[in-house]
Amino acid sequence: KPVIIIVVGMAGSGKTTFLHRLVCHTMASNLRGYVLNLDPAVLTLPFGANIDIRDTVRYKEVMKQFNLGPNGGILTSLNLFATKFDEHGVGISVLLMSRNCDLGPFCFSSEQQVISVIEKRADQLDYVLVDTPGQIEIFTWSASGAIITEAFASTFPTVVTYVVDTPRSESPATFMSNMLYACSILYKTRLPLVLAFNKTDVANHEFALEWMKDFEVFHAALDADNTYTSTLTRSLSLALEEFYKNLRSVGVSAVSGAGMDAFFKAIDASAEEFMETYKADLDKRR
Ligand code: GDP
Ligand code: MG
Repeated sequence: KPVIIIVVGMAGSGKTTFLHRLVCHTMASNLRGYVLNLDPAVLTLPFGANIDIRDTVRYKEVMKQFNLGPNGGILTSLNLFATKFDEHGVGISVLLMSRNCDLGPFCFSSEQQVISVIEKRADQLDYVLVDTPGQIEIFTWSASGAIITEAFASTFPTVVTYVVDTPRSESPATFMSNMLYACSILYKTRLPLVLAFNKTDVANHEFALEWMKDFEVFHAALDADNTYTSTLTRSLSLALEEFYKNLRSVGVSAVSGAGMDAFFKAIDASAEEFMETYKADLDKRR
């Protein structure tokens, strides 16, 4: 069975560029990848997507029709993409259409379930790479994001990759805020999580690994004052020790291609962990 890699992260952290790098790497390494784009608002993709939300929903049309701003348009588009269920109540529907037809926002000609499309090809695939909308909360904090994630996880080993903008996380406060977000994603999805410290061509990620490994090093980087934020950050770093212990972190550069082998190693180990522990938990809750 293919491993599903859902790529999330703050806007601008490099998800789409990273996905492009993953596509290049799988091709060069004879790994068989299948690519899904769930960002309805992206103008041009650097990679060819096998399934593209833009083929189903036109977000500009959705904005006009429902009188929404950009974020509402993206969220509604994702909902429209996800609210079509198969007869069992799971699965995502993809409506295939020609991109230049004139029937309004949900112009389509035929209908297929994403999950069954992938299931049919399961024997020929190693990884399914999923890009998500630029604004993280649209995917991680929406019903449709949860539906899509669960549909994947009920059928395939599924791993979430949280892309971190390493150069922008060099201050302890931003780092902490980023880690708390990653932690909340673990809570929401209950899936194995891989942290991809991206843009290591600009800033080395060693500091982050050190901070996660040894809270004293992190404390040393903090202001030694007793302001509310400093005190809170210190105690949060203690609380996060358990979180850090249970995830895998790799440094990558979507631009240079550094860290790809380590990344896929982390994914494979997480997929095994999914089958051993996470799956039972998911089945129990279902
Ligand atoms: P997304 O919103 O998370 O999909 O982010 P994008 O993939 O669109 O990237 C946002 C910006 O970060 C773009 O200008 C990219 O060129 C840049 N970027 C992405 N990955 C890297 C990287 O590994 N190194 C550097 N230097 N820039 C990167
Ligand atoms: Mg993007």
